Amino acid sequence: MKPRSDSDRLADWDRAYLWHPYTQMQEWERESPVIIARGNGPYLLDTCGRKYLDGVSSLWVNVHGHRHPTLDRAIRKQLTNIAHSTMLGLSNPPAIRLARELIRLAPPGLTRVFYSDDGSTAVEVALKMAVQYWQQRAPDAGPKRTFVHFQLAYHGDTVGTMSVGGIELFQQRFRPLLFPTIAADPPYCFRCPLGLSYPSCAMACLEPVERILKRRCREIAGLIIEPLVQAAAGMLTAPPGYLKRIRELCTRYRVLLIADEVATGFGRTGRMFACAHEGVTPDLMAISKGLTGGYLPLAATLTTEEIYQAFLGDYGEWKTFFHGHSYTGNPLGCAVALANLEVFRTERTLTRLRARIAALSRLLRPLSRLAHVGDVRQRGYMVGIELVKDRVTREPYPLTDRAGHRVAMEARRRGLLIRPLGNVVVLMPPLITTIKDLGCMVATVRDSIRIVTAS
Ligand SMILES: *Cc1c(COP(=O)(O)O)cnc(C)c1O
Repeated sequence: MKPRSDSDRLADWDRAYLWHPYTQMQEWERESPVIIARGNGPYLLDTCGRKYLDGVSSLWVNVHGHRHPTLDRAIRKQLTNIAHSTMLGLSNPPAIRLARELIRLAPPGLTRVFYSDDGSTAVEVALKMAVQYWQQRAPDAGPKRTFVHFQLAYHGDTVGTMSVGGIELFQQRFRPLLFPTIAADPPYCFRCPLGLSYPSCAMACLEPVERILKRRCREIAGLIIEPLVQAAAGMLTAPPGYLKRIRELCTRYRVLLIADEVATGFGRTGRMFACAHEGVTPDLMAISKGLTGGYLPLAATLTTEEIYQAFLGDYGEWKTFFHGHSYTGNPLGCAVALANLEVFRTERTLTRLRARIAALSRLLRPLSRLAHVGDVRQRGYMVGIELVKDRVTREPYPLTDRAGHRVAMEARRRGLLIRPLGNVVVLMPPLITTIKDLGCMVATVRDSIRIVTAS
């Protein structure tokens, strides 16, 4: 009998001991898992030695590629000092330096950094800060404790962030746990809730948002938005100017604007933060995914001096923000995040990205002619290709057909790792991905879509 390889043994143990996120384990147990052992630049290598392009930046986190020498070195160097100490009652050099750098890069007016561990917690922190802010700053403004969010929005998987989320499939089982919020229709132009088309609509979808804010501003603490791209909804790209108008409405009706830049931050849209495209400063901003270049879990909530000041007072006034996590401000994470920002400077990542983003647009253009592609959406290095059963009526494939999943499996056989969002095929390459590799990715996606949708 052939001896079982190391890879086979690992696969057995995976199926025996693990429970994977967002995964039907009954199906998983029947398949052989791809086990990623190594990475380099935009490539991933599995335990069998097969090489793949990392088409979704290891779930939207990787920025400068895998095994980047500057990032690798930063972690090793920090290890010679200390791996972790707490931020509760103490501080540490990488956390301090990183906060200063983040404030330099953030939209002007954001002056304070509160660390946490992942995108969900960064958003939770923003929600809790908003509610406590209104209690302490303007108790007369009303019982401002609810939030406006968009349908199909995704802000994380904790109970608080699910409450401001709008993806029915993820929420349905937990509905009884969620707190009440107010949902508004997003600017999903391909399936416009008002049945209009851009630009002749003049962004009429803003009117219902304004009506909500006008009518209920005394109850609303904040409006939360994924600026420019509603990512998990299927890379829904907002029309230019939409975010700026939302900022104006929030200011007019005294509602805090919470920008969830967890997916869009760190160059993904072509600027360091999506808010920069429209000169918008939110009142609270959540960042995570790309913060450490995709190396370690770390997150932060940035806010203004106005909000920060509202939490100051004598100890016994109980204005303290009672929130914090064990690994908050982790020195290793902060050290690699600093190196991530350094690489943006030394490699002029954002400048070099411009030509590549334009090239990606050109590469994507022919895809919209495919028989079952309804819409191709792109903002920077964020791409969503929406598959439809019928191009004329825009009828979607039933979710149980798993069209996106089948395209991803086909792409995997051809050396590209991607993960779809329902019927939307997603490409979100690391920012170092060259035009040549973008070409490979798009060609593989095109072939995979053709094969899957022909059957
Ligand atoms: C991924 C994501 C989150 C959640 O981040 P986690 O690190 O997975 O908790 C929140 N908001 C947006 C926009 C995201 O894309």
